[in-house]
Amino acid sequence: MTPLVARTRHELADALAPLHRAGSLALVPTMGALHEGHRSLVVRARGLADSVAVSVFVNPLQFGAGEDLGRYPRSFDADLAMCEAEGVAVVFAPTVDVVYPDGEPLVRVSAGPLGGVLEGATRPGHFDGVLTVVLKLLGLVRPDVAVFGEKDAQQLALLRRMVRDLDVPVRVAAGPTVREPDGLALSSRNAYLGPEQRRSAVALWRALQAGSAAAGGGPAAVRAAAAAALAAEPDVAVDYVAVVDAATFSPLPDGAHGPALLLVAARVGATRLIDNTGVHV
Ligand code: AMP
Repeated sequence: MTPLVARTRHELADALAPLHRAGSLALVPTMGALHEGHRSLVVRARGLADSVAVSVFVNPLQFGAGEDLGRYPRSFDADLAMCEAEGVAVVFAPTVDVVYPDGEPLVRVSAGPLGGVLEGATRPGHFDGVLTVVLKLLGLVRPDVAVFGEKDAQQLALLRRMVRDLDVPVRVAAGPTVREPDGLALSSRNAYLGPEQRRSAVALWRALQAGSAAAGGGPAAVRAAAAAALAAEPDVAVDYVAVVDAATFSPLPDGAHGPALLLVAARVGATRLIDNTGVHV
C-alpha cells in the first residue's frame, strides 16, 4: 500500500491516530535522499513495532553557515517508492514552516560538552539542531521506538543521552552501517563525489580497517594506523581521527584497553565524510 503522506501537523495527526489505536509505532527520522542504509533502518523498525513512520525533513537548524543546506540532495518520489516497497505506513514530509511555525525556536535542546567535540567542534550548533528537531519529531509522532544509524555514532550517543537525561518517553534502537561493496559507508552526501573522488573516499574505510588491524595495541597505535591510511590518499584532507570511549566520547588515554570507537572525518574535495567502527584497543 502507498504510505500516507502527511505534510501538515493536521494530516500527521489524522494519519497516526488509527496506528496509535492499533498498536505500537516506530519512527525512522531522515533527511530524505534515501539509500540502502535508510532502508535497513526501516526494516529494523518493522521488526520492532506494528507500524512504521518515516520522516523526511532537511532540518535547517542543524546546518551551519556555508554548509550544504541549499544543495542537499532531494529525491522525494524515489524516497516514497522505497517507503512503499518497505511497508511504511506514514511518511511525514513537512516544510520548514510546519516544523518551525514561529521561525527559529527560542528554546532549544543543548547537546552539552559532548556536542562540542569531534563533529561538534567542526560544526558548532549542529548537535543542538539535531537534538531539537528529533525531540520535536518525537513529540509530533509519539513513536514507541525511534531507529537511528550507527553511521552517525556521536549523534546516536547524544540522542541516547537526551532520552535519558530528559526522560523522553521513547526507546532508541540502532542499526549497523550499510556499506558499498568496496567499504564506503552509504551516505546521501556520496552523491556529491565525482568518479575520482569516489575512489579516494574509500580511504576512510581503509583507515577503519587499518585501525582495527592494530587493535590490542592501545589507542595511540590504533589512531596512528588509521591516520597513516588516510595520509596515503593525497586527495583526502583529514579533519580528525579519534579513539574514544563509546559512551562518553572522551579520548582514551594511552595505556587504556577495552572497547572503544574509532572515528574518522575527512574532506574529499568539498565533500565532508564521516565513518566509524567499534574497536577493542
Ligand atoms: P540522514 O538522512 O543522513 O540524516 O540519516 C538518517 C538516519 O539514517 C540516521 O539515523 C543515520 O545515522 C542513518 N544512516 C545514514 N547512513 C547510514 C548507513 N550507511 N547505514 C545505516 N544507517 C545510516
